[in-house]
Amino acid sequence: MEKPVIQVKNLYKIYRIGENKVRALNGVDFTIQKGEFCCIVGTSGSGKSTLLNMMAGLEPPTKGEIIIGGEHIERKNESKLVLFRQAHVGFIFQSYNLMPNMTAVENVAMPLTFQGVPKDIRERKAIKMLKTVGLGKFLDHKPGQMSGGQQQRVGIARALVVDPEIVFADEPTGNLDSNTTLEVLNLMRKIVHEKKQTMIMVTHDNYLASFGDKVIHIRDGKIIKIDEHPGGRIENTEEDTTDIYPGGTLAVPGEEIRPDENT
Ligand code: ADP
Repeated sequence: MEKPVIQVKNLYKIYRIGENKVRALNGVDFTIQKGEFCCIVGTSGSGKSTLLNMMAGLEPPTKGEIIIGGEHIERKNESKLVLFRQAHVGFIFQSYNLMPNMTAVENVAMPLTFQGVPKDIRERKAIKMLKTVGLGKFLDHKPGQMSGGQQQRVGIARALVVDPEIVFADEPTGNLDSNTTLEVLNLMRKIVHEKKQTMIMVTHDNYLASFGDKVIHIRDGKIIKIDEHPGGRIENTEEDTTDIYPGGTLAVPGEEIRPDENT
């Protein structure tokens, strides 16, 4: 592990619905090191997607700082954010988000088009990436001609073809059976470790999260625990945090509880 690639400081996202405020993120602080596979885990509605969206610059925070590679994401305007994402970030989605009428090669090559890479180089890189994810025999297949696991491998290849420093994955195995889930998870972990990329994966599943080098447990918009086990843990932890922090207080050692009524 090297220097921090992502720093999140005192992050709040508060939605107003009529008279009510929903604190989707309620004062979140953490650091992710370069090369880490970090999992953010929590039940539905705990704030995971909101956190991922803020880190990817897809939504602005209400308050707080997100520093990626030394740059303040929350201070960038939309056009700077687009450039930032193109240059530094890859996304893997639960629903794969592949273009149904394009072949695997064409789907994987697409992000390179946005970077202005010439066609022959795009194709060469896409084919290499598809071989890396074990799809060398499916280059000309369209998504409908592939299994869910294969489609997600195409999604992984598409995210990684631009060689991003950071990969965000939102429930990437949510549509896969348990065997395929483990295959895809191990594949993602292996590639990002080999390439020294940083991956942030959101999941509701404690077992899947336990594969992370770092596991950030989130509940009601707050971090309730951060586990660190470099290299990831493979056995089933079945860890439950419900009895550890009575009252749902923020109980990370050394972290201050500071309800901020003004935000
Ligand atoms: P998760 O990804 O863990 O399921 P979310 O980040 O989607 O959780 O949501 C966290 C909380 O914020 C939930 O209570 C959700 O209802 C609320 N929320 C998310 N997006 C919005 C929005 N656009 N407007 C209002 N409330 C929202």
